[in-house]
Amino acid sequence: MKMYKPATLQETLSLLTELPAKKLLLAGGSDINILIKQDKITDENIIYINHLPELHGIDMCCTKLVIGAATTISEISHSGVIRQYCPFLADSLHDFASPLIAGFATLAGNIANSSPTADTVPLLLVLDARLVLKSLTTTRMLPLTEFYTGYKQTRLQDDELIIAVEIPLQYACRYKPQYIKIGSRTALTIAKAALAFVKYDNKFRIAAGSLNEYPRRLYSVEEYLSLHPDDYNDNDLLNALKKDITPITDFRSDKEYRLQVCFNYLQKFLKSTNSS
Ligand SMILES: Cc1cc2nc3c(=O)[nH]c(=O)nc-3n(C[C@H](O)[C@H](O)[C@H](O)COP(=O)(O)OP(=O)(O)OC[C@H]3O[C@@H](n4cnc5c(N)ncnc54)[C@H](O)[C@@H]3O)c2cc1C
Repeated sequence: MKMYKPATLQETLSLLTELPAKKLLLAGGSDINILIKQDKITDENIIYINHLPELHGIDMCCTKLVIGAATTISEISHSGVIRQYCPFLADSLHDFASPLIAGFATLAGNIANSSPTADTVPLLLVLDARLVLKSLTTTRMLPLTEFYTGYKQTRLQDDELIIAVEIPLQYACRYKPQYIKIGSRTALTIAKAALAFVKYDNKFRIAAGSLNEYPRRLYSVEEYLSLHPDDYNDNDLLNALKKDITPITDFRSDKEYRLQVCFNYLQKFLKSTNSS
């Protein structure tokens, strides 16, 4: 294993282009350091990026929030700008890990680690977030809905990194998104299931975590509810949900519980928006 600490973003991008395939970016290290300790990462080239100023900061830019890739979860949940324009994001990250880990876990690290349980991803999916991906020669925008292609598989190219996450304020400001993370405890817990939900103009954006090989939108449910915003039927809703999720049984929970709890919260969110 070889460690690099490039002095600039440009040098980082050059390293990403030049180094052979087995390479990893290191931001907060809360996922990678565990793999190193467990000897699951042994001969990779590791590029440290947390000190690069271009990857930090939270800004309002016209009608969108721009969050630097290496911004920590703690910075996001305490940010005045986020609290003002997207309180849903700040509030929903309140029970992310522990205060200590949230203080060095980064937003892009959470997204790029591609865990099915990544807490930020369902939130960002309902907010219609986009990733800004940069290589030495290109900068491109990718909707988060298109980032994952399978379990731990993404569309990030070998020579690219995430430099920022953009959140249009459309859903965050005009509507009231909701989020539930179901874990074994209220603190320092990994989600057994997570659901983010927003209703807008009788349409819906709904995303789930820990219920598929990566967090994703529930398109069948969204489509069904858009046709039946006020007259949905529980059986049809459940059938749509079953098309969208593939819950598994593992050491955290079982698939029957995951399906049921997701369905219960879906109904709860729907009732709350219908009565408001
Ligand atoms: C005790 C404990 C509790 C945890 N609790 C939670 C929890 O409640 N919820 C949750 O979602 N997660 C949790 N995690 C997981 C972890 O903290 C998060 O996934 C965190 O956000 C990862 O960010 P990082 O900066 O530490 O990533 P790192 O470990 O530095 O990197 C993770 C991955 O992202 C890649 N990466 C990092 N930055 C970039 C970038 N800019 N562009 C492209 N790729 C990049 C790295 O190459 C690596 O593959 C927990 C971890 C621990 C150890």
